[in-house]
Amino acid sequence: MKLKLSYLLLLLISISSITISQTKKRDEIDAKYKWNLEDLYSSVDEWQKDLKLIENRIPEITEFKGQLAEDSENLLTTLENMYSIYKNYSKLSSYSTRLKDQDLGNSNSYSLAQQASSLGTKLSEATSYFNPEILDMDRTTMDKFYKEEPKLLDYKIILDDIQRLKEHTLTANEEKIIATFGMIASNQYDVYGIFTNAEMPRKSIILANGEEVKLTSSGFVKYRATENRKDRELVFKNFFENYGEFEKTIGANLAGHVKGDYVRAKNKKYKTALEAALNANNIPTSVYKNLITQINNSLPTLHRMLKLKKQMLGYDTLFYYDLYTPMVETANIHFSVDEGQKIILQALQPLGNEYTTVLQKAFDERWIDYYPTEGKRSGAYSTGSEYDQHPYILMNWTDDYNSVSTFAHELGHTMHSYLSNKNQPYQTSQYPIFVAEIASTTNENLLNNYMVEHAKTDKEKLFILGSYLEMMRGTLFRQTSFAEFEWDIHKKIEAGEPLNGEIMSNIYYDIVKRYYGNDEGVTVVPEYVKYEWAYIPHFYYNYYVYQYATSIVYATAFFEKIIENGDVAVQKYFNIIKGGGSNYPIELIKKAGVNPLSAEPFELAMKRMNDVMDKMEAIIKK
Ligand SMILES: [Zn+2]
Repeated sequence: MKLKLSYLLLLLISISSITISQTKKRDEIDAKYKWNLEDLYSSVDEWQKDLKLIENRIPEITEFKGQLAEDSENLLTTLENMYSIYKNYSKLSSYSTRLKDQDLGNSNSYSLAQQASSLGTKLSEATSYFNPEILDMDRTTMDKFYKEEPKLLDYKIILDDIQRLKEHTLTANEEKIIATFGMIASNQYDVYGIFTNAEMPRKSIILANGEEVKLTSSGFVKYRATENRKDRELVFKNFFENYGEFEKTIGANLAGHVKGDYVRAKNKKYKTALEAALNANNIPTSVYKNLITQINNSLPTLHRMLKLKKQMLGYDTLFYYDLYTPMVETANIHFSVDEGQKIILQALQPLGNEYTTVLQKAFDERWIDYYPTEGKRSGAYSTGSEYDQHPYILMNWTDDYNSVSTFAHELGHTMHSYLSNKNQPYQTSQYPIFVAEIASTTNENLLNNYMVEHAKTDKEKLFILGSYLEMMRGTLFRQTSFAEFEWDIHKKIEAGEPLNGEIMSNIYYDIVKRYYGNDEGVTVVPEYVKYEWAYIPHFYYNYYVYQYATSIVYATAFFEKIIENGDVAVQKYFNIIKGGGSNYPIELIKKAGVNPLSAEPFELAMKRMNDVMDKMEAIIKK
């Protein structure tokens, strides 16, 4: 039994989002703009007392170790103790992490966070026997237990979820052998990281203004949208060709990783690595296949966007190196925190009073730490495991539109957690990662829609509409092209065919040319782009990126339904927002009114993109 890492995805997304200069000191900020951690503990002393208390309770977890299957009461007592300890631990760990994040340079907070983390390790060691023992239990005993002790039904989804993996569990000895191979499982990812971050020789180029630029990953991110078009071409060409020089090495390494995925899957009696990866969250592979098919069917909408971009940039031909250049110049619009709060309350009004009342509560009761301060962690996140209290949000507010939309995004996570905590027992309050980005992205859609309707000038309107399209290109289409590549290279290995860097480059180049309409003259994709796969670390994450794409599609579909059908759609949508982990992710989404196996959510997302483009074209025509 491990803590669910629902927030991994959120962190991955938010880390890259903001860089700011952290100037002000913490005590220079008005208290109402800082989070109030006293809702968790009144003092560090209280925290220390709780730490001891939790530590002393660890034997309660292991009391019936080896005897869970003997008696339904043993099992129930263990479950109740385990979850009550974890509930307490989540609160404890939140406090020390928030303290640490508000001032990374504070060694006292660091030591608290370390104490919490080592307690966490002890807890997972203590609970490690639990899952294997449940897996060993047969279904008849389990059914008998439910009859004997109906309270166990409150934990049924959790027990079922463990037992679901029965057919993929081997004998104890076999599992042991597989586990020893786990030691080398992350090797290719480590090699890739060390090579591309440290040892790979990087090219330098001279920009038109005479500036010399070293094309590391961060140099590429910094200069890929540089204004001078010749410079952009130089940046892209040299950056990707640099990877091309190591095509064989990086290719052999990635092929090794893919083989590892397949061997592990096969040993666990899965047909493919895709099936194994998705089964962890009980997602059928048809969800993945549907994503690829539907997005390929939707390419005409991406092509329309790229043609519009070409027109707005005033180019005869759009090149792949123009993609990061925003289609609309940044509108100089500024928002204070107070203005941002007001806008968000208005923009999220379609979700109803129950929703906005909690938002107001979050603002009034200081759940949020707004401003960048000396030593504060960068980026933005929302927590959610403080079951009896409330989630917290870390922001680095810089008065721009991005601050408002990041805030709406994080509030989506906060509301999802808060309402799940209020409506679910603790054990099913944490939501699965597959649904984690739906509430956040639905909020972003609502905000974007509101901002367009209330924009003061056409320039502002175009900017907001344009940034929406750029987001859809980067998150929906680009991530799906990655998902398609990842699937294709796995299929090669699974069919017993050869796989190396050159083959990967060809597969990748075909996908990118198709997505960006190279053959239809929509975007010219120069040949050096075929090496781009070697720059993407996500291919070592074992079928992870597709969730960025599915989340945004489902969220856009929910947005369309909420705007179209009002409260009826909102109440259905709340099945996710209040549902926590009470059901498997696909079931939660279906209950909320969207079928991930159908074309509908994709058609709704394309409808939205086309609506946005209609609006932009109408403004341009004026
Ligand atoms: Zn997020």
